[in-house]
Amino acid sequence: MEISVNLAGRRVLVVGHAGRARHTIARCVASGARVYLADDGEPGDARAVSSVVRVIVPSNRLEWKTLVSSVDLVVSVGVDSSTTDALERATREARIWLTTEPPSPTLPIGRVTLVGGGPGDGQLLTVAALAALREADVVFFDRLGPVARLAEWAPGAELVNVGKTPGHHAVNQTEIQERLVEAALAGKTVVRLKGGDPFVFGRGGEEVIACSRAGVPVTVVSGVTSAIAVPGAAGIPVTHREISRLFTVVSGHVPLSENELLHLAGLGGTIVVLMGVGTLPHLTAGLMRAGMSASMPVAIVEKGFSTGQRTTRADLDEIAPLASRLGVRSPAVVVIGEVVRLSEQLDVTAATFLQDAAAELTTD
Ligand code: SAH
Repeated sequence: MEISVNLAGRRVLVVGHAGRARHTIARCVASGARVYLADDGEPGDARAVSSVVRVIVPSNRLEWKTLVSSVDLVVSVGVDSSTTDALERATREARIWLTTEPPSPTLPIGRVTLVGGGPGDGQLLTVAALAALREADVVFFDRLGPVARLAEWAPGAELVNVGKTPGHHAVNQTEIQERLVEAALAGKTVVRLKGGDPFVFGRGGEEVIACSRAGVPVTVVSGVTSAIAVPGAAGIPVTHREISRLFTVVSGHVPLSENELLHLAGLGGTIVVLMGVGTLPHLTAGLMRAGMSASMPVAIVEKGFSTGQRTTRADLDEIAPLASRLGVRSPAVVVIGEVVRLSEQLDVTAATFLQDAAAELTTD
């Protein structure tokens, strides 16, 4: 069974080596506890211990009992069996809660986890994503990931923005890769947080290759991709029985070739375009040239899962001028296909998401 306790203002004694207990300490400090550290090892990791009070490790039963009696909770992290025995006895006698946390890794080199953060709503982060963030020493993020509650999800981590910020260019891809590798080689547990899924137009593959080449262990946590979730948030299923049995996800970053347009129009399923606002006039004209009906329904869903989510719908021959008139902007997902008509019936999903997003904004 798991229970949550509010540690704000409580005294927590962490028993274990500072370096190996660094994530536990960071989480306790982040939750507002006053943290005391009984460290029986070498002088530890300065980052983790700067905000704790070190106490002398007791040498006998009475000293242990006195120490644990002066706190509200004791957390043991990777201690030896004689310390475990002493702690168990002392906390039992003093009737103080004792919990055990797994030690953080102290590898000579760290590791990188590429984490898909989903389309922006914290509720669409996976359990694996939250676990990776919880253990991170450093998180490299950009604006497309879910970032509003990053400090809470990764309490022990340094947060580094590698995306565009007002007045600053985005850090370029080669430099991001260098920084991931450099941090891992310095022994850190590194998370690269990305919007959606790392392998859908996210350059995740390049980052995996860069880490592997440098001998840095790297793993990938899949995320909920905007290609499916953002249409879904607007009440558009990318497939639907008897309407569409395939969907193709395309990047609109550069215009499609005539050959690509021809094949796309010939497939007869749903077309989902990411990064497609800039090339929309080229795409719609090209699909019509390739034989797609001018009355094919199209939807553009902007800023999915935010209070600014907006859906613009029109037929294929009318969507580009309408989008320009309405000032449709990136990030947006373009959906082309008969499934768009379903949004009139299914838009209830969209309404729920928007209500939830608004509620989250007001409670944060
Ligand atoms: N890896 C990401 C896609 C990165 S490409 C994924 O799997 O979702 C960036 C594009 O994704 C944007 O230009 C936009 O087309 C789309 N996108 C991502 N998040 C979005 C959101 N919340 N609302 C609308 N479009 C989004």
